[in-house]
Amino acid sequence: MSIIQSHDPEHFLTSLVGGDEGLAIMRSQGWCIPIGQPNADGKGWPSFGWQGGPVPRGRTHWSPVLVAGTAGAHVERQARAVVWVLAVVGDEAPEGFLGLPEWARLQTSPGKAQAIWKLSTPVDRARASAITATLRAGIGTDPSGNNPERWARLPTRDIPFGKKSAAELVAIDGDSIDPLDLELALYSALNAEQRDRLQVFIAGGGGAMPQDAVELAKVDPLFQWMLDTGRVMPGRKGDAWLVKCPYGHEHTPDASGEVGMAMNYMPGPPGEYWFKCHRGTVDGKSHLARRAEEEGWGSTTRLVKHMFRQKGAPISAAEVGTRNVRPDPENAAAELRRMLGLR
Ligand SMILES: [Zn+2]
Repeated sequence: MSIIQSHDPEHFLTSLVGGDEGLAIMRSQGWCIPIGQPNADGKGWPSFGWQGGPVPRGRTHWSPVLVAGTAGAHVERQARAVVWVLAVVGDEAPEGFLGLPEWARLQTSPGKAQAIWKLSTPVDRARASAITATLRAGIGTDPSGNNPERWARLPTRDIPFGKKSAAELVAIDGDSIDPLDLELALYSALNAEQRDRLQVFIAGGGGAMPQDAVELAKVDPLFQWMLDTGRVMPGRKGDAWLVKCPYGHEHTPDASGEVGMAMNYMPGPPGEYWFKCHRGTVDGKSHLARRAEEEGWGSTTRLVKHMFRQKGAPISAAEVGTRNVRPDPENAAAELRRMLGLR
C-alpha cells in the first residue's frame, strides 16, 4: 500500500470507479455515487449524485453504490434505489484482516479505521448485503448493521457535524478483490456460532432477524427447514414469526401497492403450531382460508402443512391429517351399494 493523498475525495472516488472510463460509463447509464453530509441539526442526510469532478465543500460522506441520478441533483439512497454495489466497507476491521487485499484504509477518528474492499465486479444489493453481514460477523460486530448503501466517510478536510476530526486516507492500493474470493475468505473465517447467526440473517433476506430464531430452529425442525429454504422473513408480528406465504402470488396489493409475502407462523408443540395469512382477504376470509375450505382441508394450517410437506418439510402425513372431502351424494350412494354388494 502507498499513501497517495490524504485528503482528496475526487481522486478517491475516481479511483474507485476505475478512472475516466468508469466515469464515462456512469454518465452514459445515468448512474451516480451518492455523496452527502449530515444536516447541522443532526437530522437528515441530504444526498446528491456524483459523476466525477469536484466534490463540493462540506460533503463528508459517500455511499459505495450506484444509484440512478444526475450529477449535483438530489438522489435517493435507499435499498430500492441501489443499482450496483461497488465496494464493501469494514468498520473497525483490523489492519490486514484475513490477509484480504484492501483497496483503501481510512482513519475516521483517532484509533478508528475503515477498510474498503473494492469489488472487481459490482454485485447486486442482495449479494452485497450477505457479504456485509459476513464481514461484520467476522469482525465481531452485529451482522444486522450497516446496509450496503450505508454512508461511509470521505477523505476530505471537512469535519462532519457531530464528529471531532476529518477522515484521513491512510493508504490506497488500487487492488480490487473478486467478490467470490472475498465471500470465501470471510465465510471460512467464521466460527460455528457466527455461521448460525449469519445463516439466519441471510435466510431472512438480509433484514434484522431476531436472535432467538437460532434457538427456535434448534428445537423446531419445521422452523429450521423454513430457515434453510429462505422462507422466514425478518421481523416478528407479536409472538408469531413471519413466513413467506406459499401462495404469495395470489396476494392483493396493500395500500402502498406492495404485494406482501408474509403469513404468521405461531410455533407450538408438535402438531400444534399454526399458520395464518392476512392477505387476499375477501368477506373476512384470507385467500388461504378460502382455498382450505374449497379443497376440504378444514383449516389454513392444514393446507400449508400439506403444501410444505410436498416441498420436503419435516411434516408427517398423520400431522397433516386427512382431507375432509365433501361427499358427493350420487357417488356416496354408489359407494354404499358397492359396500353392501348391491352393485
Ligand atoms: Zn397468503
